Amino acid sequence: MGLVDHLPRVRLGHFPTPLQEAPRLGAALGGPRIWIKRDDLSGLSVGGSKTRIFEFVLGDAAAAGATAVVASAGEQSNKLRELAAGANRLGMKPILLLTGVTGPTELAGNRFLFEVLGADIRTTPIADRFDPALKAELDRLCGEAAAAGHRPYLVYHPGRTGTLGAAAYVAAAEELTGQLGALGLGPVHVFIATGAAPTTAGLALGLRAMRLEAAVIGVSVAAPADEAKAQVLAYAERCADLLGIDHRPSAADVTIDGSQRADFSLPATPAVIEAIELFARTEGVLLEPTYTAKAAAGMIAAIRRGALGPSDSVVFVHTGGLPGLFAHAGEFGYGIDGGQASRRT
Ligand SMILES: *Cc1c(COP(=O)(O)O)cnc(C)c1O
Repeated sequence: MGLVDHLPRVRLGHFPTPLQEAPRLGAALGGPRIWIKRDDLSGLSVGGSKTRIFEFVLGDAAAAGATAVVASAGEQSNKLRELAAGANRLGMKPILLLTGVTGPTELAGNRFLFEVLGADIRTTPIADRFDPALKAELDRLCGEAAAAGHRPYLVYHPGRTGTLGAAAYVAAAEELTGQLGALGLGPVHVFIATGAAPTTAGLALGLRAMRLEAAVIGVSVAAPADEAKAQVLAYAERCADLLGIDHRPSAADVTIDGSQRADFSLPATPAVIEAIELFARTEGVLLEPTYTAKAAAGMIAAIRRGALGPSDSVVFVHTGGLPGLFAHAGEFGYGIDGGQASRRT
């Protein structure tokens, strides 16, 4: 009996995702053995961590008889892309409120895919996801959908759906524990990108509940490390309550690396670009600048400062986000010269 088996779930992706060894990446870094947990291959509209999450969140929505889903996030949100894709699969209407929109935007990356997916798109200048005015606007959109004859379901991180998202990563931790056990791998260091935090929280909670000897290192993509850590622990508590898990991660069980964080609107840092090129050129694996390459840059920095040596085993959780890579193409310094793409120096 699994830890999350009693929750409603719909099948949207391909699980378990592969746990793939990355020997050329490990050799290039001269450090530990590295495995990549390929949640980017989960499959729903390119895939990513949100496929897992929406199997549970949309499972909950379906159980409630929802015919429309309402959610908010930024214009390059992977969450909104996968939500729209999953809602389409289930015949629900996706209503997306794009936050922090103050002017005209480029139809690139995920923002382009929202249009391809046919989502009902609204915008707001509000950027802070905890702003009560944002919640009020989401509630208003739910009211509007209900008045049009829909049964709306609100996807809202600080509420129930964030906790269900964490539960999805408890399931991921069970999956990973099984894969590591089959390989006979002992203690592991697990690197993952930490944004709003449910994903890291669920992973840490699940690994602890499975009694796996694992150090979870969340690389914060935007928030200061102490804020991100407080969010991880808070989501872990709420998720442990939901699932009836006694073994909860304590502050000592989760490390948050704040060294790579950057505002989403800023161009990719040199460390991020280096990480993207390194994964691509050693393993043929594509990262993106907003989440996964920051996690990779944190892992690379830890190896370079000697925190992880050749006898250590590392799992890098690839949470997806591929469309975001295309939205940042102009930041890599590549030029097209005589038909050959080359680095501009
Ligand atoms: C959403 C997302 C994350 C982070 O998840 P949180 O639960 O918000 O911390 C990491 N990587 C990618 C690609 C994502 O889309």
